[in-house]
Amino acid sequence: MDALEPVLPVLSDDNRGFWDAARAGTLAMQRCAACGHLRYPISPICPRCLSPDFAWTPLSGRGTVLSFVIFEHAYNPAWASRVPYNVALVQLAEGPRMFSNVVGIPNEQVRVGMPVRVSFEPVQTAGGSELAIPRFAPAG
Ligand SMILES: [Zn+2]
Repeated sequence: MDALEPVLPVLSDDNRGFWDAARAGTLAMQRCAACGHLRYPISPICPRCLSPDFAWTPLSGRGTVLSFVIFEHAYNPAWASRVPYNVALVQLAEGPRMFSNVVGIPNEQVRVGMPVRVSFEPVQTAGGSELAIPRFAPAG
């Protein structure tokens, strides 16, 4: 079993569109069919207008690091092999903000304001499913 297994997402009818798009290399979010709001986190109804209708919409995958921290301790054993690791709040170009990780550079080089682009980490679940976890790499 992969060390990450305990913290991997459980696929459901609500989130399957997000994970299917991720596996295809695209960051997608729910765009409200009534008011156009991009819903994130995934939700069964729009937080702005309460409409249940939406379409999975591909995003550019571009953003900037709004804030970040570096974890020096494994508060969950699933992350033990990754310590030290960063957790970044990424401001996406289209508006939503996502917690993720900046990858591809040492933690010491992560900066607030750094332009980043989504990058997917393939992960195999114990059940044999393949997931692609969105991370962010320096852009440019
Ligand atoms: Zn709406």
